[in-house]
Amino acid sequence: MVVAIDGPAGAGKSSVARAVAGALGFTYLDTGAMYRAVALAARDSGVSAADVARRVRIAVGDRVTVDGRDVTEDIRTPEISEVASVAAADPAVRAALVEEQRRLLRSGDWVAEGRDIATVVAPDAEVKVFLTASPEERARRRAEQLGADPARILAEQRLRDERDVGHGRSTLGAAPGAVEVDTTGLSLDEVVDRVASLVRDAAGARG
Ligand code: C5P
Repeated sequence: MVVAIDGPAGAGKSSVARAVAGALGFTYLDTGAMYRAVALAARDSGVSAADVARRVRIAVGDRVTVDGRDVTEDIRTPEISEVASVAAADPAVRAALVEEQRRLLRSGDWVAEGRDIATVVAPDAEVKVFLTASPEERARRRAEQLGADPARILAEQRLRDERDVGHGRSTLGAAPGAVEVDTTGLSLDEVVDRVASLVRDAAGARG
């Protein structure tokens, strides 16, 4: 079974997807980490992001590696958020990563998180969730994580939201068939319970 979780930056996708996968015994797939890893490797090597996406081996499990090099922490900086968002606008980068994501999702039980899971990567996913929160709430959470100024994060987030549209990505609204979950004012546990119960309903309906 595939559970698709899409939504804008800062909606809480990673925490929710990881916790839902843990609760259900599914494997968590962080597709944003793949775009980040490509952008980091391109920056470090001077090779174009498209060539990196086609040639290097990216693994996103507990640790994120690029051709075996551990980049788990290095991909989380504000600079890499920025270059990843730019690399993700390149159709050649997307084609290579979407192909790899589809290959992974072909067998087993997954909670896959990103922007285009329900629309492009796995349109047949049994459960589709669009996770959102108000822009102010998203910026507040990010600022708290990074120890940064919320007003500055809100301004950067606005730019990234604008850049993260297109290529079949749903960042502004739910994809057809996706259940919208607004996490503003909800605790992580409340959101995880909600998503897990959607999965149990879908599993029950499947028999
Ligand atoms: O979710 P995260 O912030 O880690 O994603 C990093 C960047 O990768 C985002 O800015 C977005 O542009 C891009 N992305 C994407 N499609 C996905 C996942 C992430 O375009 N499925």
